[in-house]
Amino acid sequence: MKRRDALKLAALAPLAPLAACGTSRSETATTATTVSVTATETRTATAVGGGEGAAISMLNPSAYTQEPTQFGLHMPGIVDTVPTVPGARTIALTFDACNGDVDEALLDTLREHHIPATLFLAQPWVEAHPDVARRLIGNPLFMIGNHGTRHLPLAVRGQAAYGIHGTASPAEAIAEVAGNDHLLRELGADPVWFRAGTAHYDDVAVRIANDGGVKIGGFNVNGDFGATAGAAEVAHQILGAPDGSIVLAHMNHPGSGTAAGVAQAVASLGGGARFAFIDGTVPAPA
Ligand SMILES: [Zn+2]
Repeated sequence: MKRRDALKLAALAPLAPLAACGTSRSETATTATTVSVTATETRTATAVGGGEGAAISMLNPSAYTQEPTQFGLHMPGIVDTVPTVPGARTIALTFDACNGDVDEALLDTLREHHIPATLFLAQPWVEAHPDVARRLIGNPLFMIGNHGTRHLPLAVRGQAAYGIHGTASPAEAIAEVAGNDHLLRELGADPVWFRAGTAHYDDVAVRIANDGGVKIGGFNVNGDFGATAGAAEVAHQILGAPDGSIVLAHMNHPGSGTAAGVAQAVASLGGGARFAFIDGTVPAPA
């Protein structure tokens, strides 16, 4: 994408959402500056595993009577960075599958270069591509996260992001996590991590998820601007990601710049980055 076009898109962003699950350019600018100081705050974010995520469905929604005081992309309880290790530059690539198609070129790139990634699968996408979902779940190169039952902002009063209304009660918030959690477990996944549709939350919903043993996968680098960015811009975002970054991009828009941008970034980095899952771990070599 030419810079001129990028600026044009940026100018349009407040008026027109870039994608159903997009996050606007202006938000990236404000978050990218905070990464280096917060990178160490998430060292406790170790994998829970062992079916812990299913605890979300055991929560009592009537216990959550508080009114939310925050709504957005970043707040306490959302993990925006991964644990780092000395002497390496750790980057966690995360790809959302909101709905729509399968970016096979992206998946091929990740497999070909053995780049681990965390894939957040939403129920509408899984239901459209059950065989692909099963294959991804069975591949140790990928950590599978939950991207929501209806792909909505996770909230308790229906707050909206990009025109998409969030869940409107504690019970709806629990169902938004638990419904797709159940589906993914049926397909063999053990999803500990959750990212809401639009990546927006209110603080009560964040607490509900955390109480249910669910870790919320935030981000500090907007990798593909809702799959609207060209390859060069996607590569630029990844190449500029500070140590400990979580990069948010999409795997449901074949033909976008995401696959080529990831390939460019991987080639440029060579061995200069340690690609990790969103919890900071790396899979054993194949
Ligand atoms: Zn999404």
